[in-house]
Amino acid sequence: MAKLIIFSAPSGSGKSTIINYLLTQNLNLAFSISATSRPPRGTERDGVEYFFLTPEEFRRRIADDEFLEYEEVYHDRFYGTLKAQVEKQLADGQNVVFDVDVVGGCNIKKFYGDRALSVFIQPPSVEELRSRLVGRGTDTPEVIEDRVAKAQYELSFAPKFDKVIVNDDLEKAKAEALEVITQFLQS
Ligand code: ADP
Ligand code: 5GP
Repeated sequence: MAKLIIFSAPSGSGKSTIINYLLTQNLNLAFSISATSRPPRGTERDGVEYFFLTPEEFRRRIADDEFLEYEEVYHDRFYGTLKAQVEKQLADGQNVVFDVDVVGGCNIKKFYGDRALSVFIQPPSVEELRSRLVGRGTDTPEVIEDRVAKAQYELSFAPKFDKVIVNDDLEKAKAEALEVITQFLQS
């Protein structure tokens, strides 16, 4: 039976980098495309990284009970997992990988239980997070401060996850993630 792998961490921890690496390995993984009401950044395309919705459209879908979970992660910025999207990927026999905030991660784990593995990517420090976000160059200083301010709270969720991977040395973190997930998919 196809499984679910959930990655959560403060923004800038290296989740996307690690997930993108795992997607290139032969693990039969499909990325769970979330919906969001934030605007696309950089080279992001609708239906690839996210389904980009207006806040009104997002609220309508909440009212229609279309989400497995959703969060207002930052002020007026909704993010959520569409039930139909996940169910289709699982039904196609693909293992589904999630990049969701810490609350969403705990909710998906609770819903799917042992069929899901929840992984927390921990940055070496909050200062290092800020410098990675600045280095990534995709967010305004205001957005970066919003994200850094939330990081301390998010870090307190680490013990709720099945696995914690510290992303200090990226190559080590990628290797550890590959090992943990390979093992989970075989179990
Ligand atoms: P997230 O998806 O958690 O927001 P990203 O994967 O976008 O984080 O990583 C944030 C930035 O930090 C990117 O520019 C990425 O290249 C860089 N990065 C990731 N891991 C490391 C690491 N171990 N050391 C230094 N920089 C890193
Ligand atoms: P970003 O704007 O950097 O793409 O994502 C911001 C935050 O929203 C990240 O912590 C990301 O994991 C989270 N996120 C993305 N999609 C979802 C989702 O479907 N549900 C929840 N709860 N969080 C999400």
